[in-house]
Amino acid sequence: MIIKENQDEILSYLEDSSNFKSGKCDRVFIPENEDEVVEIVNSCNEKNIPLTVSGGGTGTVGGRIPTEGSIISVERLNRIISIDEKKAVLEAGTIVNNFLKEADIIKKFYPPFPTERNAFIGGNTSTNASGEYSFRFGATRRYILKVRMVTGSGKIIEVPRGKYFADTDGIIKTDFVSLKIPSYRTPPIKCSAGYFSADRMDLIDLIIGSEGTLGVITQVEVALIDKLPDRFIMILFLPSEEKMFEFLWQVKKDFISDMYTLEFFDRESLFFLKNDFPEIPDDCCAFYIESTDTTELMEKWLEISEKYQAKDVWVGGDPKSYQRLIDFRHKLPENINAYFRKLNITKISLDIAVPENNFRELVAFYRKFSKESGIRTVLFGHIGENHLHFNLFPVDEREKNLARQIYLSCVEKAISLGGTISAEHGIGKIKYPYLRMMYGDNGIRDMIRIKKIFDPKGLIGRDNLFPAKLIFEQ
Ligand SMILES: Cc1cc2nc3c(=O)[nH]c(=O)nc-3n(C[C@H](O)[C@H](O)[C@H](O)COP(=O)(O)OP(=O)(O)OC[C@H]3O[C@@H](n4cnc5c(N)ncnc54)[C@H](O)[C@@H]3O)c2cc1C
Repeated sequence: MIIKENQDEILSYLEDSSNFKSGKCDRVFIPENEDEVVEIVNSCNEKNIPLTVSGGGTGTVGGRIPTEGSIISVERLNRIISIDEKKAVLEAGTIVNNFLKEADIIKKFYPPFPTERNAFIGGNTSTNASGEYSFRFGATRRYILKVRMVTGSGKIIEVPRGKYFADTDGIIKTDFVSLKIPSYRTPPIKCSAGYFSADRMDLIDLIIGSEGTLGVITQVEVALIDKLPDRFIMILFLPSEEKMFEFLWQVKKDFISDMYTLEFFDRESLFFLKNDFPEIPDDCCAFYIESTDTTELMEKWLEISEKYQAKDVWVGGDPKSYQRLIDFRHKLPENINAYFRKLNITKISLDIAVPENNFRELVAFYRKFSKESGIRTVLFGHIGENHLHFNLFPVDEREKNLARQIYLSCVEKAISLGGTISAEHGIGKIKYPYLRMMYGDNGIRDMIRIKKIFDPKGLIGRDNLFPAKLIFEQ
């Protein structure tokens, strides 16, 4: 085991991809195996030291950053234990990109295909991460077959999918745990907000997405599928947002079984890509599609682009042009962040998804603020999953206050529409107030009750999902 106590060495563990700046930690434990994980958890329990689990550090909500106590980093638990036609067994610190490359060698594919591939598989499991193809395949949850975890009380548990289910009263009973699932139900849409809860749910789904609050995941077994068929990317530049929903519903109806990705970029987003892609037409919005590559499909897409009077259509079919269009998609968040960092402006970013039948209403709600608030906004993302990131860039105190009010209004609206306040990024240490709005005090109490079963002293992942002080009040 490596132990880092020098603050210079610890600093890099006190950041992730969020703006969370209150990180503090006395030491970082880096175990080499599961026995050492147990040893560390037990020792922290004996001494009452809070312990935060650190993965690849790509999270966007401060989840891996402790405010006190120690860190346990799984970076050296990074072995691909086995990989075959159907599944792989991975230690939690396996870097997703390394695993994807191994799968590719045997012509297999891991469908969650997380966008940020420097993340660890344990981090992806803890946040139920989504990826480039979650429109088609769903998020991480669907592909996790088994989880091994050292609970907050130092017990090793192994939870396979399909073995432990909630009964009709919501009770899950095993030889190592007995609990009642939360009284709320997770909306049946893209969602990474709080502990998962559904009728007759599988215990493994409680652990997936629990953001490091129940224990240290040491190993996961994941499902693989065959390597994907050849695909092309197409970007259609539409003259305005006027017909975006008509277009959206039509392509979802006509192309659903052949699409892998369906994304949207508004006019403001395209502005941030103009330097890299000067040929972007003026005054338009864009749909980004990845599809199975057949001549027939390509022709159908070209027909639809004519019908909607696309200002331009770009196709990435051969490897070079395909990669260029992938860059188009990846560059946007990078460019936006770099631009506003330079101006010292902190973005306020929403991660809301709603059921399809309410999606149009949510977008109209966002657009009212884009028009009336005077704050610069950018709207882009996973339109195929009714999940667009609405970003606000307030420039002064007045706008900052207004942006916070807008955030709250959008959260209220999303909840009233049956949506989630976090579709993919999770809650971490940043979004508790909105989680509380979504599930109410009872929902939070239910989560704390479950946390205490796995972690009686409330030491693991402290302040993730809910403030630690609530654990001790209950
Ligand atoms: C450019 C960029 C793009 C991104 N795009 C997406 C996207 O499209 N979709 C998406 O969902 N996310 C996205 N993310 C967010 C991020 O990649 C995911 O949340 C990812 O799953 C975090 O994994 P990590 O290993 O980096 O975890 P960390 O950031 O280290 O930790 C995240 C949380 O998981 C917990 N954790 C980590 N490992 C374990 C473990 N072994 N046991 C228990 N708890 C653990 C931590 O305590 C923390 O609460 C993006 C991030 C970046 C920087």
